[in-house]
Amino acid sequence: MSGRRIYFKPGQIISRLLNPALCLCCDIPINAEDFMCEDCLESLPRVGHPCSCCGLPNASRAEVCASCLLKPPRWHNMIAPLIYRAETRRLIHDLKFNEQLYVANALLQHLAHCYRDHPVEVLMPVPLHPTRLLERGFNQSAEIAAILSRHLHIPLDRHSLKRIKATDSQSGLSLNKRRKNLLKAFQYDPQEPYRSVAIIDDVITSGSTMTEICKQLQKAGVKHMEVWSLARALKQD
Ligand SMILES: [Zn+2]
Ligand SMILES: [Zn+2]
Repeated sequence: MSGRRIYFKPGQIISRLLNPALCLCCDIPINAEDFMCEDCLESLPRVGHPCSCCGLPNASRAEVCASCLLKPPRWHNMIAPLIYRAETRRLIHDLKFNEQLYVANALLQHLAHCYRDHPVEVLMPVPLHPTRLLERGFNQSAEIAAILSRHLHIPLDRHSLKRIKATDSQSGLSLNKRRKNLLKAFQYDPQEPYRSVAIIDDVITSGSTMTEICKQLQKAGVKHMEVWSLARALKQD
């Protein structure tokens, strides 16, 4: 296991120790219960007019984009409010690799309303393979799911969905290779016969992971599936 990387500069660490209530992006003083200032939260890039199925910007401004109408994904709704680039990439990297949980708290405090009015029975994080979890010691999707569960009062289930194949990293792989990599990677063994589930991840890129998970859920009788994440990678990224 590699050592944990710290990205704060020494000056930032000292100022945080002296005054922990500083915006984690721009370091201006903020209310003790906040994590980021209003300006930084408002300036995070948001997906404009997202398609309710694939989460990508939809120029037609219809609820569902043409490509989802032609080839609907396996899930019914996707909620991924932020665009995955620059500042959001840095924040999510801090959450994922530096275990900076307050990043998820800060973002979800600001974004929780986006996930309301989508009633599902249960939230399930995208699982890590046990070996990967042991190496990393932390599953950022599970932490995001736990925070959302508290905000939205929806039960959390970390056990029904398992990753049974230690897949290679998906980044840099073609869509075809991503799909092959994920074949038989997940096992769904529900603790209860759920009918509506939201699957939670930090970032949605190609959607291959979610497609593979939804296949398993559908086989087990889940009728309504939602995909919720913090951010959506745009195709050109
Ligand atoms: Zn700020
Ligand atoms: Zn779409």
